[in-house]
Amino acid sequence: MIKSAYIHIPFCQNICSYCDFCKVFYQEDIVDKYLTSLEKEIKTFYNDDVLDTIYIGGGTPSVLNIKQLKRLLDMLDILKKSNNCEYTMECNFESIDSLKLDLMIKHGINRVSFGMQTINERLLSRLNRHHNKQQIINIINLTKNKGINNINIDLLYALPNEVINDLKEDLSFLMSLDIPHVSTYSLMIEPHTLFYINNVKSQDEDSDVAMYKLIQRYLKEKDYQQYEISNFAKKGYQCLHNLTYWDNNEYYGFGLGACGYINNYRYNNTRGLNKYLKGCYRYEIEKLTIDDKMSYETILGLRKRQGIDKQAFFNKYKKNIDNVFDYQHEKKLGLLKENNEYLWIPEDKLYLSNEAMVAFVGGSTYEK
Ligand code: SF4
Repeated sequence: MIKSAYIHIPFCQNICSYCDFCKVFYQEDIVDKYLTSLEKEIKTFYNDDVLDTIYIGGGTPSVLNIKQLKRLLDMLDILKKSNNCEYTMECNFESIDSLKLDLMIKHGINRVSFGMQTINERLLSRLNRHHNKQQIINIINLTKNKGINNINIDLLYALPNEVINDLKEDLSFLMSLDIPHVSTYSLMIEPHTLFYINNVKSQDEDSDVAMYKLIQRYLKEKDYQQYEISNFAKKGYQCLHNLTYWDNNEYYGFGLGACGYINNYRYNNTRGLNKYLKGCYRYEIEKLTIDDKMSYETILGLRKRQGIDKQAFFNKYKKNIDNVFDYQHEKKLGLLKENNEYLWIPEDKLYLSNEAMVAFVGGSTYEK
């Protein structure tokens, strides 16, 4: 049974300078056509599974006008939800309001994820983001007053010319909002973004690592548990939807550019809007071998602070993980640790997670 579904709403009012996500400019008539095609996709592929998590991401789902948002949420009512279903929607501070929040709550949405990135006005302007501190405070208060306390904020660091003090101000402001979940991302300058075209340079590696470590220390002191490389939560507020991915469980992905994992197949939907509107949904489909599944299991599992549950791995694949992968070299380097129950990346090496995962990437796996 599939327990999770992701729904992608690719529309944005402005395009951020660093963005390489699957997004398109908001246009009212295109959104209407998109919703028609999305509904068709869901009706074609959804198999009546009872879901524990639903995540509406983007893009910026809250950019839909109230009528379109109602239409989206009405159509998603077809998805069956378990009693405690975690139902998240991504929002930005400029496009959410009281009416939209009421509608979301009416449809069962109980978690909201906001893209703050930074509060530094100079940096926000470089990112082409248009909110300000007061707007953030007002919207967070409004969301809480409506009864949604399960709130995530995305924080972006290692921005061009950002210094440690800028990051400290962001963190201190975040704490003043008293929210239970923080996702952090280091800025990567990806091809085809405005930053890339304008030859904007990333921070050097040392600054990047220093900022990552500052975030780890700061949030730990404030009682946030780092439960994944980039994610921190107060007790009881881990994002169950994202844990589906890191636990290597299957999930539906609906919408432009969405990825999914169903019945041993991983798939990517087309990123071409015209194709999507014509109902050509799937772009790439990969049938997973048992070796592929074990590689995914370890690479995704190592993202979690607790690491890989070795017994669970055995139960799933009838093999001991150390009989499948050779990770002794990474262990000797201190990039991995293990005991009888778990295999994990130590806290002070999480910033080197790519190196730690090398033993599990295609080619370097071996059968004993
Ligand atoms: S709001 Fe998000 S998806 Fe939209 S352009 Fe900015 S980063 Fe990209």
